[in-house]
Amino acid sequence: MTAQLSALPAFSTRTRDLHASPIREILAVVDRPGMISFAGGLPSGDSFPRLSLDAMPQNALQYGPSEGERPLREWIAADLRTRGLDCTADQVLIVSGSQQGIDLVAKLFIDPQTPVAVESPTYLAALQVFRFFGARLLAYDAEAPDTASFVREKPAFAYVIPTFQNPSGRCLDAAQRTALAASLDEARIPVFEDDPYRDLAYDPCERTPLCAGLSRTPWIYQGSFSKNLAPGLRLGYLVASPELLPFLTRLKQAADLHSNRVSQWVVLQQLNDPARHARIDALVASYRVRRDAFEQALRRHFGDIATWRTPPGGLFFWLTLNERIDTRVLLPKAIEANVAFMPGEPFLPHEVEACGQLRLNFSHATAEQADVGLERLAALVRSAS
Ligand code: PMP
Repeated sequence: MTAQLSALPAFSTRTRDLHASPIREILAVVDRPGMISFAGGLPSGDSFPRLSLDAMPQNALQYGPSEGERPLREWIAADLRTRGLDCTADQVLIVSGSQQGIDLVAKLFIDPQTPVAVESPTYLAALQVFRFFGARLLAYDAEAPDTASFVREKPAFAYVIPTFQNPSGRCLDAAQRTALAASLDEARIPVFEDDPYRDLAYDPCERTPLCAGLSRTPWIYQGSFSKNLAPGLRLGYLVASPELLPFLTRLKQAADLHSNRVSQWVVLQQLNDPARHARIDALVASYRVRRDAFEQALRRHFGDIATWRTPPGGLFFWLTLNERIDTRVLLPKAIEANVAFMPGEPFLPHEVEACGQLRLNFSHATAEQADVGLERLAALVRSAS
């Protein structure tokens, strides 16, 4: 890596320190024939609606406002109000996928050595962005927040995925949401809530945005159309307390002027389609069947070598192996055996040698593939222990 870099022009320190996302490297091999992949968070392709551009207004091809299309912002604000978050369309900024939202929030807050509070484990591509801007990551426990340490360490913001967390699948209950919101409010820590999985609920769960429980500290709530509609559209949104929005809008403008108007128009058309609820219900029902089949296969093959909590929603099982092996070392062997998964280590804010944990996506593989793939993986874990 260093030898290659020395032959290149002088890149910024940030870029020199940036490593390829482990997940993108895995995604590059998952299309190999015979490969069973539990690695990505790919929604099932069968669920994508048939889209038509026939009725698209001509001006969708023109430059548009940085904040996004007004009717889409109105729809999002109205939807969030029904979910308990008091907001208006003026507080909504449409972004090019919620990954861009993470990038903009990082740019808003992070200088080199800025403390940022994150869960452990948490979404690896958020960690990657926060590190890129030089954040000093502080791990906190969203299920048992420690107000005194928030006050002492004064993170610039706390990143939280309360609902069907990636990678753990955990959903905070009402009391946990109230306690975390109270703690962050009391310590005046701005909150960045990431909520892409909220529609994928298989069991009854509290899903009111955590931000709805805040009264004193600034907040940013983020949603996405990737998991309930289609990730290829690359559309998500930030909703922020009014004092933050102008700054986020400037950052958005500097990044890419505005999000793709054709995608925004397509999403709006989908949101207004009366068949939408039935489509999401069918999607959730099919993922529930896959989750249950996956868990049965897990019990068969991993019952005596790992533990897990059944995810009440979202796309992942988070496994803790009885033996604390380095799952990054397991991965190339698994790929050779035609089964892919996500090692646990990249989801941790602090470097550990071997965490013995891994993330398994259950929405993509059929029940048969899950059974075969987990059998292969369990055999590798047994031989590594
Ligand atoms: N946040 C979380 C927690 C995610 O899991 C993902 C996607 N896996 C994203 C953000 C990014 O999603 P997108 O850019 O497709 O909206």
